[in-house]
Amino acid sequence: NTSVVLFTADLRLHDHPPLRAASAGGRQVVPLFVRDRGVADAGFAVPNRLAFLADCLRDLDAGLRERGGRLVLRSGEVVEEVCRVAAAADADEVHLAADVSAYAHLREERLRRALEADGRRLHVHDTVTTVVAPGALTPASSDHFAVFTPYFRRWSAQRPRDPLGAPRSLSVPDGVGSERLPSRDALPGVSAGLAAGGEVVARKRLASWLRSGLAAYEERHDDLAGDATSRLSPHLHFGTLSPAELVHRARRAGGPGAEAFVRQLAWRDFHRQVLAARPAVAAADYRTRHDHWRSGRSAEEDAEAWRQGRTGYPVIDAAMRQLRYEGWMHNRGRLLAASFLTKTLYVDWRVGARHFLDLLVDGDLANNQLNWQWVAGTGTDTRPNRVLNPVAQGRRHDPEGAYVRRWVPELAGAPGAAVHEPWKLRGADRVGIGAYPDPVVDLADGLARFRRARSKT
Ligand code: FAD
Repeated sequence: NTSVVLFTADLRLHDHPPLRAASAGGRQVVPLFVRDRGVADAGFAVPNRLAFLADCLRDLDAGLRERGGRLVLRSGEVVEEVCRVAAAADADEVHLAADVSAYAHLREERLRRALEADGRRLHVHDTVTTVVAPGALTPASSDHFAVFTPYFRRWSAQRPRDPLGAPRSLSVPDGVGSERLPSRDALPGVSAGLAAGGEVVARKRLASWLRSGLAAYEERHDDLAGDATSRLSPHLHFGTLSPAELVHRARRAGGPGAEAFVRQLAWRDFHRQVLAARPAVAAADYRTRHDHWRSGRSAEEDAEAWRQGRTGYPVIDAAMRQLRYEGWMHNRGRLLAASFLTKTLYVDWRVGARHFLDLLVDGDLANNQLNWQWVAGTGTDTRPNRVLNPVAQGRRHDPEGAYVRRWVPELAGAPGAAVHEPWKLRGADRVGIGAYPDPVVDLADGLARFRRARSKT
């Protein structure tokens, strides 16, 4: 009567249905995490996420130890490692949270077959990493919703399951060896301002967000300098927080801020149900209507200026530099940076999506690829030809220019909103601006190029 719980994107003890089911009736449990070679081979094991993961694993282990357990860490091919651990522990079942990518589906199927061949059972649990399970809501004519608004209507009518508490005590069998847990200190290339990971930090952040951020969220979520969003995305990505619990607690707090916040959690589920139904949308060779872009040397030079935060458009450069320094970027920054790359520079969204995935601590296949396609106008956006103007958007969402001055020190001397058009600055306002580049493209020229190109596709 021993179970293995395979932790993946659910690195927490609170509201963890697989752990609850596995330990029911006093069964012994082996909490297992496998550093999956497949994830590294696919290019997803980047420094910022590895560092955050290291924090999460240490924190999970500490939480398990407080309850009489411990985390077992292995590295290698995930199916082989789970079977090996299940055999060493003489476990008759393995519990796992359902996930949405093609890779996760395949892993689940291979694991099921391998375990069954050894006479063991695999239990896959829904709604651990989403509020509503992908595929649970479908329109009359399809197996998934391609447009957010009707999805959200149906989603809002669901009541998420009640969140579970953390287990009080656990019993782990002897004789199942673990590798040493990784530490972020040993990792090169981590962003200097990267946030800390782990469930303890996540729950503190959640409590302070509910107390002092949520109420003003609707009004302030686009305020770049105010930084008034929850910053819970890395915790949702690694599953140190449960999205179902977030919905319950936000709704309990109530008000327009809570409603707006819950709507964003629905966007997360929306993209996951698209990806679960159409795994090909995240594949590198996936192409749709309008998927035509500039290529060649000058396109590559423009993309590099964008990556480096040197486009000459301050709000874009501030956002790109925030990404590099923190491994995280404000949502309004992501929208502006993605619109600028795809529509103003007319560079393939895949170039931008890859760069984001290389740096974002919350870098996530469903959210990243599908948001990029949404902004590029090749995905589910109902206004595919909308182009965001970085000067107008900067004035609107960073009216005092504080966000730009925080991230672009060359412009520290520029006053107020004038910072958004540095090419117009004169005299003392230009002090220190020397190294800041001229705009890579004139906005009107960029817009005309985009409209010409789109009219042909
Ligand atoms: P809040 O505003 O506090 O929102 C709460 C939660 O809702 C977020 O943590 C997130 O889980 C979810 N959420 C918010 N906006 C979206 C959205 N548009 N789509 C899906 N879920 C959302 N988010 C990621 O988690 N990983 C990514 O790789 C990612 N890539 C993106 C790429 C682009 C081009 C764009 C435009 C958006 C991307 N997003 C991504 C969505 C969004 O920008 C981030 O989730 C958000 O900025 C995280 O900050 P927060 O936790 O403070 O968000």
